Amino acid sequence: MTQIVDLLRANESYAAARANVADARPGRRLAVVTCMDARIDVFAALGLHLGEAHVIRNAGGRVTDDVLRSLALSCHVLGVDSVVVMQHTKCGLAGVTDDELKELTGANLGFFPIDDHAAALAEDIDLLTTQPYLEPLKVIAGFVYDVESGEIDDIVRWTRPA
Ligand SMILES: [Zn+2]
Repeated sequence: MTQIVDLLRANESYAAARANVADARPGRRLAVVTCMDARIDVFAALGLHLGEAHVIRNAGGRVTDDVLRSLALSCHVLGVDSVVVMQHTKCGLAGVTDDELKELTGANLGFFPIDDHAAALAEDIDLLTTQPYLEPLKVIAGFVYDVESGEIDDIVRWTRPA
């Protein structure tokens, strides 16, 4: 339980010093979908600050039903009009198959493994651009973040046709 105690102890100093953001709407009208990988500091890597963006994370940073659910709210309730989907190098979901991940975890789930970053990003962006309820989205970009250099490969851009 030390783990939990440490978290609560850290929170005491955080709460005393933190900046308060009153508005729940992301200041840069942006949502970032990325991997849960512990090596990615999303805010620092993209120059974002508290209150500026929704950050939606899962294994692989893939556009799953739950990401769509979150983005529906980002768009319609919280003013988001831009999305960045950011995969990364050395991802645990790259170079493996769904069957291998099912075997590894014992979980009979769809894991959305990544065969090729460009193809997976294209697939995910296609999902975003074809949902009628995501019509408020005007700009989407697909990035690959390099966990060794910290640099971003700007793979794909999409802008809603006027
Ligand atoms: Zn990953």
